[in-house]
Amino acid sequence: MKIAVLSGKGGTGKTFVSVNLACAAESAAQSNLNSVYVDCDVEEPNGNLFLKPTNIKKSGVNVTVPVVDNTKCTGCRKCSDFCKYNALAYVKDRLLIFNEVCHSCGGCIIFCPQKALKERQREIGVIEEGISGKTTVFSGNLNTGEVSGVPIIKELLPKLPDNGSVIIDCPPGSACTVMESIRQVDYCLLVAEPTLFGVHNLSMVYELFKLLKKPFGVVLNKCLADEENPSEQFCKENRITIIEKIPYDKEIGRLNSQGLVAVRENGTYKELFERILDKLVKESLQ
Ligand code: SF4
Ligand code: SF4
Repeated sequence: MKIAVLSGKGGTGKTFVSVNLACAAESAAQSNLNSVYVDCDVEEPNGNLFLKPTNIKKSGVNVTVPVVDNTKCTGCRKCSDFCKYNALAYVKDRLLIFNEVCHSCGGCIIFCPQKALKERQREIGVIEEGISGKTTVFSGNLNTGEVSGVPIIKELLPKLPDNGSVIIDCPPGSACTVMESIRQVDYCLLVAEPTLFGVHNLSMVYELFKLLKKPFGVVLNKCLADEENPSEQFCKENRITIIEKIPYDKEIGRLNSQGLVAVRENGTYKELFERILDKLVKESLQ
């Protein structure tokens, strides 16, 4: 079962929920099923801060960009006119290529009448695979300044097993990296916090789920017993399944600030996240 964990914005507790769900699934791993955590938040992958994987294997992720042969280029500018991303400019008798904004469409290479452009590979980040307890940990890391993490996510997801519990920690928001991360999942779990900002971002991701027709539910994080919860209100008004309410708890804050996994430290949280996992399995089978 593949579960994507999302949030409309950063800081809701998405990585906290993802990491703890993966570790709660370790008891399933004892029966030879996989427990896998995947960090697709490639601009800021921080699940490793909690899981501290060892035996790490790294592999580079490349994209294709054009390179010009100036001896063949006549300066006709057909390539720069074609490029919708402004990655090419012909200035002072030379073709300039801005690799960081190239989207690797390959169109300029096809359009060049002089065959002056050809492909070269350029590394934009790395994928890491390691082990933490009984959980296999995958992490995508986009190099600083790169335009899109989509190629890293595209290379990362086919590496995942088809059986066991695969928890995908998605990027925040509702951009193309999120769409790529949830393409093959069985269920989406949205983490929302009880604030007006939280409900605004929850509503944006809700629209994305409706568009993609993905089954989904919500975990309400940082809930205070006697306080109004606009995100809970939004879920009730829109008949959205609330999987669980996680309380605002200083102990969770303490464990998080020390980079510790709550379910590995505290039996109450282990029970809580096993219960959430159980509900997710049932929901995804409906
Ligand atoms: S299309 Fe080819 S020949 Fe024309 S400017 Fe671009 S690289 Fe040079
Ligand atoms: S490959 Fe596509 S995006 Fe990149 S420079 Fe050429 S036309 Fe522009």
